[in-house]
Amino acid sequence: LTRAVQVEGLTLPVFQPGEVWLTGAGPGDPGLLTLHALSAISQADIILYDALVNDAVLKLAGPGVVLESAGKRGGRPSPNQRDITERLIELARQGQRVLRLKGGDPFVFGRGGEEAAGLAAAGISFRIIPGLTAGLAGLAYANIPATTRDTNHGVILVTGQYAAGTERALEWSALAQSGLPIIIYMGMSRLPEIANALMTAGLSPETAVAVVCEATTPRQRVLVTTLSRVAVDVTAQGLGSPSIVAIGEMVRLRAALSPFAIAF
Ligand code: SAH
Repeated sequence: LTRAVQVEGLTLPVFQPGEVWLTGAGPGDPGLLTLHALSAISQADIILYDALVNDAVLKLAGPGVVLESAGKRGGRPSPNQRDITERLIELARQGQRVLRLKGGDPFVFGRGGEEAAGLAAAGISFRIIPGLTAGLAGLAYANIPATTRDTNHGVILVTGQYAAGTERALEWSALAQSGLPIIIYMGMSRLPEIANALMTAGLSPETAVAVVCEATTPRQRVLVTTLSRVAVDVTAQGLGSPSIVAIGEMVRLRAALSPFAIAF
């Protein structure tokens, strides 16, 4: 009767026709899907997915499930966000079980908030299924703890995409002065500018930086460098999007962990 994932001792919700489930697919490795996400994939009639959703995750969908690309690239301001929300509403009104699948967590730099608001305004019932966000899970797969008691009492998650201007430069300086590590999403295109702004604001050029590209996928690459060298090293190694940039001393802990950490 129900196609919900069966886990002994657990009752997972049934996907009802006409509902939209706004779901995080995690950063890439299908093993990082939540049980709710897996259950959603197995029950959906149609999956509207983002460019950042890993193919290995989409392959978990059964043969009868329609896969539709929402046609956005992560990071860039999307001219068609409105169209995506309209499409979700249209499909839900047709009585389909609509799975909106997004990379990482839908509410972390994922525009899930805008889509949920659009659905609410249209009177469509939806469920939010959080996912592991790339800025934390991606670091973990690079053997970098986001916090330790010895290194930092917090982290800053921030996007590197913004309109050029002084306001934003001031913000980087405030972030630098907080003394907390900075984890940047969508930071690759402005990396030289961001690194310079942080050094101008007083961060040491020797501050440790990690760039984790395509984290948690078989193509994961990790660069460990310093703030003064990161822009040059990224270019030299040909690292691009999607990448997480982590700036802070906790990056140095990786050296001790990596020899014994089992790779996935
Ligand atoms: N909602 C997502 C973030 C979307 S913004 C989340 O919670 O993870 C897109 C940015 O996320 C990318 O530019 C990149 O900085 C980061 N990102 C997403 N998946 C990634 C991955 N597998 N490896 C590295 N960075 C990733």
